[in-house]
Amino acid sequence: MPWIARAAPAWLAIVLLTSAFVAVGRPAGASSLGGTPPCYDGFQTLQQVDDSFSWQEPTLPFRTARWSGSVFLLARTDTNCQIAEVRVEYGGTVGGTLTLNGDLFASFTVQYPESFADYGTVSANAYGSLADWNPPAGMGPGYVAETNFKINARGADEYVIQGLGAAAAVVDLRASFRVPLALLGQTVDAQIHVGTNLCACSVTPLTLPVSPYWDVYVHAHEDDWQAWQSPNAVWDYQSGDSVLLVYTTAGDAGNPPSYWQAREDAAEASVHWLVPSGPSEGSGFVTVCYTADVAVCHPVWTRTYGRAVSVYLRAPDGGADGGGFPSTNYETLEKLRDGAIGTLTTVDGSTTYQGWADFTSTLAAVINAYAPPDDRTWVNAPDFDRDRQTTHVPGCDPCPDHADHLATADAVYDITVAAGGPWNRAWFIDYPLGYADPRYPANLDAGGYATKRGLFMAYRDALYQETGIDEYTANAWFWENAFNRCYGRVA
Ligand SMILES: [Zn+2]
Repeated sequence: MPWIARAAPAWLAIVLLTSAFVAVGRPAGASSLGGTPPCYDGFQTLQQVDDSFSWQEPTLPFRTARWSGSVFLLARTDTNCQIAEVRVEYGGTVGGTLTLNGDLFASFTVQYPESFADYGTVSANAYGSLADWNPPAGMGPGYVAETNFKINARGADEYVIQGLGAAAAVVDLRASFRVPLALLGQTVDAQIHVGTNLCACSVTPLTLPVSPYWDVYVHAHEDDWQAWQSPNAVWDYQSGDSVLLVYTTAGDAGNPPSYWQAREDAAEASVHWLVPSGPSEGSGFVTVCYTADVAVCHPVWTRTYGRAVSVYLRAPDGGADGGGFPSTNYETLEKLRDGAIGTLTTVDGSTTYQGWADFTSTLAAVINAYAPPDDRTWVNAPDFDRDRQTTHVPGCDPCPDHADHLATADAVYDITVAAGGPWNRAWFIDYPLGYADPRYPANLDAGGYATKRGLFMAYRDALYQETGIDEYTANAWFWENAFNRCYGRVA
């Protein structure tokens, strides 16, 4: 029986499982994995701020606006301590009172990263969808309540009370905004603006909580997690998890530093595509250590943006067959793994690994430096299974996966399966997707395709700007195949 006939149903099951879990950020069945009790499925008030104000126009016609109430930050945590929903709620359950006198309006929105001064830009930084509000849209005594849905491409909403001239008092006013979980850990502004541009009356900063869940994506080169481990990485971030991206090699392909540095910048462009713009950025060498007989430490180049941490281990690129390049003394991860060389020096000369175990132990130390050492962490890697990763198509039969991908898979295998690592783990297919190996038919819908393409093209555009190299156009068919596919399994 051909392997495909036996394997197809298993793959289908895996794909469904993967799709199910990415939609909610957890694998199906994860509910049995536990978490850190006590957590329950319900809203908790994290913050309550009195954001009342009283404004009067200093000149004719002396219009007034007054708000008496509070704004609440609420989070709903599921029984796994996963943050399932965050809301910014004007008025809370008791409601607030808005009094308007004159032809003017009060606008309620959530803004990030900055509040606005000019009402003409209300939509630019608006986030959050209206989940609940009172009074309902329509006429009230002396006012009109308006729900302005999708005022920008992110689908942000605005709630407005428009005064009609005479004095109007709106009691039991509530406006509850569901804030995207991609903003977890950031500080948003709850803004009540009286307009058109009369008064930026109330701007209340609220810092959203951070989820304890981490998703670690380990791969070889700067474009790999976008091509082979997405859209899962994107969905993980959007579900509120923190993401650790580990690049084992510099992806230099024997080229000078300007090339792999440009690829690192391009990878960061994908991170910027993933993370809502606004957080401060950081970069530098971080020393990570593990304990063997003594403490062993290596500096690793690290960049942070929002809840995304990127670690560049910068081992020399091995090339497709793992033979290496003269510029890096033909040192490669494959040779280190196989014992053909005893040491491996990073392309930036920042450190030297004394054997394969030193390298894999450092990889584990990188994960432990950020992610909890339990089942709240998912480690995602290229699949170590050579059959699954070998392409069989006309003209490419068999085509093995890139040697650096397989060495990276082996490194993760050693610290997870072989060493009994404490994390959950998932394994992803690489080049067979690009070659459209018939075992892996297109399985992403239009949304998945657009996400994956957008993420990858952010990388492509940045690399093109810096180097003039167009990685996409050189093999458009290959990347398009990848954009339509994502295959992972849990093992
Ligand atoms: Zn690669």
